[in-house]
Amino acid sequence: MAETGMSQPTLAINDLTVAYDSKPALWDVDLDVPPGVLMGIVGPNGAGKSTLIKAALNLIPRAAGSVLFFGTPYERVRDRVAYVPQRGSVDWDFPTSVLDVVTMGLYGRVGWIRRVGRKERELAMEALREVKMTEFANRQIGQLSGGQQQRAFLARALVQDADLYFMDEPFAAVDAVTERAIISILHELRSRGKTVLVVHHDLQTVADYFDSVALLNVSIVAAGTISEVFTNELIERTYGGTVAALDSHGAS
Ligand code: ADP
Repeated sequence: MAETGMSQPTLAINDLTVAYDSKPALWDVDLDVPPGVLMGIVGPNGAGKSTLIKAALNLIPRAAGSVLFFGTPYERVRDRVAYVPQRGSVDWDFPTSVLDVVTMGLYGRVGWIRRVGRKERELAMEALREVKMTEFANRQIGQLSGGQQQRAFLARALVQDADLYFMDEPFAAVDAVTERAIISILHELRSRGKTVLVVHHDLQTVADYFDSVALLNVSIVAAGTISEVFTNELIERTYGGTVAALDSHGAS
């Protein structure tokens, strides 16, 4: 892991084990994420990348282990943690507008009971501006393209103004414009001092997009800065020697 002086990790995962039907999807995972990094979580299909995020956020039960955010359990710091789920895992038939979806990012702050007012709507519109989606504010979310849906979810995360962001495959099946928009948002978040963890499966772009990487295959193979960790040897160890194509494409 990259050494970052004495600062407390933003996310500290210790000995995390998760099983579905008694088959382990994560085994003894240890991961410390320092503040302010833009980290890719990388590993083959079925490596447990989504499971890692869901278990950290208490969306699925853990068999063992502990997860601390900013040194405390998730329940106490929910508002400081934002999650952009995999697009495919969301029910897009839900009859709600883009603006409503984005405004939901503010519920941690205003509570579910209080009515969302003009100020909240302005914040939501500002986030939609950041992802270049203002003209879709009143559109039903089911009537957006995949890339537009992804940007609506990013806007919801932005409006939450969290300190730690989890994003599960935000680049999956989006067009080039959306991909660039997402990258610029990731960099903007980092420049605001946020910590961002992104599940990512395209090895070719890891070194361009992220400053740090966690290589995962049920357990953590290695985690740290790109130059320390994103080496052919460690990538091959993560993928079990199934990534011969990488040799010609520039992992260092
Ligand atoms: P990744 O995101 O790296 O592709 P996942 O975290 O989605 O991996 O899945 C890890 C493993 O757990 C896979 O073998 C997958 O089949 C299994 N798995 C994921 N979700 C479930 C579930 N709800 N029930 C049973 N097995 C699951």
